[in-house]
Amino acid sequence: MDSRQPSDKSSTADSLLPTAEGFTEQGRLLFAGPCEFVFGSAVLEQLPPFGPPEIAFAGRSNVGKSSLLNALTGRKALARVSHTPGRTQQLNFFALGGATPETARLRLVDMPGYGYAAVEKAKVAAWTALMHDFLRGRTTLARVFVLIDSRRGIKDVDEEMFDLLDRSAVSYQVVLTKRDELKLAEHARALEAVQTALARRPAAFPEVVSTSSRSGEGVDELRAGIARLLAEIGAK
Ligand code: GDP
Repeated sequence: MDSRQPSDKSSTADSLLPTAEGFTEQGRLLFAGPCEFVFGSAVLEQLPPFGPPEIAFAGRSNVGKSSLLNALTGRKALARVSHTPGRTQQLNFFALGGATPETARLRLVDMPGYGYAAVEKAKVAAWTALMHDFLRGRTTLARVFVLIDSRRGIKDVDEEMFDLLDRSAVSYQVVLTKRDELKLAEHARALEAVQTALARRPAAFPEVVSTSSRSGEGVDELRAGIARLLAEIGAK
């Protein structure tokens, strides 16, 4: 008799997804391997050819995006390249598991930070057009993680980003940053406010991950969520 029942969590049947602990371990392994800068694209014509699945990270400048990318990948200066003046308006692609199409399992796309007060309107329009074209045309893009500073909450420019993602029909998930700055009750309020705002938006993933690059809180959880996403889309 086959002892593997659907409810048997230890089952190794291919059709069953791993347990939560299994995803934590898969997430750890996914980010423990090599992570290399592949490409920086300032215009759409220069996007790298389609390869492995991609996940993108977006957020207002100063939200803590570089710090979170470094924490996720365990590298001190992975995202420094995105902070180099003149490069801030590009989409930067990093490959996990090796830069060649045969070995790469996932690409991280660091989207340029938005919401600089000092940027002229024409530049904002150019940025929005680039992002819209990227989001609409990138069929390998599995999810966009929109980072929100937990102390500040959702601002108008973030709502504009959500609008753009809704229009582009790209699935997205909010990640709160700098959780260490808030007391427990403040954090609960911040989380609830974000969840309420997202409830109106069908393309938004309902689960919000709360992180701190400083304390490391939530980083394993985010890695596990990314491993689960890869499993769900049937990636290698
Ligand atoms: P980016 O502009 O979105 O790439 O943001 P950075 O990663 O450069 O971070 C912006 C500022 O926020 C820096 O001063 C960081 O030290 C700070 N920061 C980033 N992550 C955290 C965090 O988890 N906790 C706290 N308290 N500060 C953070």
